[in-house]
Amino acid sequence: MTAFAHEPNPQPLSVNERAGLLADPGFGRVFTDHMATIRYSADEGWHDAKITARGPVTVDPATAVLHYAQEIFEGLKAYALDEGGIALFRPDANAARFRSSAERMAMALLPEEMFLESCRQLVLTDRDWIPAIDGGALYLRPFMFASEVFLGVKPATEYLYCVLASSVGAYWKGGARAISLWVSHDYTRAAPGGTGAAKCGGNYATSLVAQAEAVRRGHDQVLFLDAVERRWIEELGGMNVMFVMADGSLVTPPLTGTILPGITRASILQMARDEGLTVREELYSIEQFRADAQSGALVEAFACGTAAVVTPIGKVAGPDYAFDIGSGGTGQTTARFLQRLSDLQRGRAPDPHGWLHRIA
Ligand SMILES: *Cc1c(COP(=O)(O)O)cnc(C)c1O
Repeated sequence: MTAFAHEPNPQPLSVNERAGLLADPGFGRVFTDHMATIRYSADEGWHDAKITARGPVTVDPATAVLHYAQEIFEGLKAYALDEGGIALFRPDANAARFRSSAERMAMALLPEEMFLESCRQLVLTDRDWIPAIDGGALYLRPFMFASEVFLGVKPATEYLYCVLASSVGAYWKGGARAISLWVSHDYTRAAPGGTGAAKCGGNYATSLVAQAEAVRRGHDQVLFLDAVERRWIEELGGMNVMFVMADGSLVTPPLTGTILPGITRASILQMARDEGLTVREELYSIEQFRADAQSGALVEAFACGTAAVVTPIGKVAGPDYAFDIGSGGTGQTTARFLQRLSDLQRGRAPDPHGWLHRIA
């Protein structure tokens, strides 16, 4: 077990100031008093694990990440359970994915035990920051970057691993209203052999221009197609996508290396199988999506990921087409998965697969 040194924040926020922030934290702007850090060097291996005051990380301008973008991250939530106590949702899956992302980016591999312990210790230190509001959680952001000061092009020999904790409310203010998607036929997110399956900042950098175009055209999110044929549906900039058919089956693009293997995606597919639904992980084209939405063969579509959990998709548009999904609102299967997952995450429902990882 990794020993974490504890360096408590000498100036934590007052109880009153914290309460003010937690009443309406929004997403990703309220941060707790502490962070976890672990350093890596080729000589010393992983060392200097600590829980310390959250604050700036100063880096030399020649730090490798600023030039060649060796950076990866994770996103998971700590939930206050209804019965008391705190749990992380499938953190072992995040730890494993962090290692596969590191492998793809030629970075040092953090032992899963250190990943879990860093999350656990940070949450226990800042447990008073979990907002007691509907949809409230502590969003954890483990990340790692090449901290070596060197301009040569090669895998760095030094890394800084860090975990931030952010108090969050529901991702979409006012509840999950159905979103509208812009299908990008110009930009792609990831190509075969590329980094689409790695959770790296670079994937987000390349998605932003397409996302900005979607917003400029009046939509909420961009939907990416495959880079080779520009017809197979992949995912959103930061969420996987699922389709509910009139025959009750659930369809989602397969993990071929160009989409991110979402833990929410995997959890929903398992829940669907547990319910006895037919799950089909198969290629689904934008033409078929249009045709099925119009014929009624497809009745619902939703996006899924840790941050927003389950988000209904109401409208879809591309350069020369536009169509609605079902009635354009939240379908019943979408609502059911959102409810079931939220209930499980807060300990309100049975947990047959042992996904809740209690830490307090
Ligand atoms: C993180 C992420 C997801 C969702 O993954 P979860 O594990 O469900 O949070 C989907 N797509 C992309 C591109 C992501 O970065």
